[in-house]
Amino acid sequence: MSRQLRDLLGVHEVLHLLPTRLQTRLLTGGCEMKYEVINNPSTDEEALRWSDGEAIEISFTCPHCDTDLTTQWLFPDADMYLDCMICHGALHFEPRGD
Ligand SMILES: [Zn+2]
Repeated sequence: MSRQLRDLLGVHEVLHLLPTRLQTRLLTGGCEMKYEVINNPSTDEEALRWSDGEAIEISFTCPHCDTDLTTQWLFPDADMYLDCMICHGALHFEPRGD
């Protein structure tokens, strides 16, 4: 869906028409969340313990409130859903192949 169409209809009118995956993308700014890997593996020992050594630490900018944040991604080979710690907006991180 084009951005123009989305703006024209308003997000809430069109959301229920779309598959869940697309809804998530609209809610997280219309595209995959961009993030940077800061530490791989994570330097957070607790996160590493919980994830059996899989955890990484990422930084990202919340598409809802524009705040720069960091978080632990315990299982970076699986999608991660969380709410922004500041504005509680929905965030969706997808693994990428690097
Ligand atoms: Zn936010």
